[in-house]
Amino acid sequence: MGYDNLVISIKSSDVMMCVRAHELIAERTRYPLHVGITESGSVLRGSIKSAVGLGLILHQGIGDTVRVSLTGHPVEEIHSAKLILKTLGLRRGGIEVVSCPTCGRTRIDLIPLAHQVEELVKSYPLDIRVAVMGCAVNGPGEAREADLGIAGGNGEGILFKKGEILRKVPEEALLSELKKELDELAGQE
Ligand code: SF4
Repeated sequence: MGYDNLVISIKSSDVMMCVRAHELIAERTRYPLHVGITESGSVLRGSIKSAVGLGLILHQGIGDTVRVSLTGHPVEEIHSAKLILKTLGLRRGGIEVVSCPTCGRTRIDLIPLAHQVEELVKSYPLDIRVAVMGCAVNGPGEAREADLGIAGGNGEGILFKKGEILRKVPEEALLSELKKELDELAGQE
């Protein structure tokens, strides 16, 4: 019809069908493609399906805009989409939090702490990696690539930078001490 000001979106809730459809259409047209797994489900299920689908599609260089569609709050969709793009190396900015799976060495309540750190870092524009580790013995070494990290001990914990210990702090102060470091880094930017 002579009209070419368009973006194409083809979607499916079947992840592998969606991947294949994008591979086929990318061979046939040069129009920009809007990529997403539709009706993907709840936050956990939908994020996993979207991560697999978008990962397989975007890694082939296919796709120009994305949508993560979840049965959840729209803000969750944005977080999920940003994380997928960042994981694929297609987006910069925002703090990446890594945390250990916990083991017999863990002496602190790491799971809520990791969630609190995830919440804390959302407001910082820093492009760094922060680690939340269960023990001071192995934590700093295991997370030596992290720009900043905290690790638990017995009633106390440590703050570390690139694997080097900065200082010991009481367990209840781990979060506030991490915040201080982040504030300082954000002030330097
Ligand atoms: S950092 Fe410590 S607590 Fe976490 S998995 Fe490694 S050894 Fe276990």
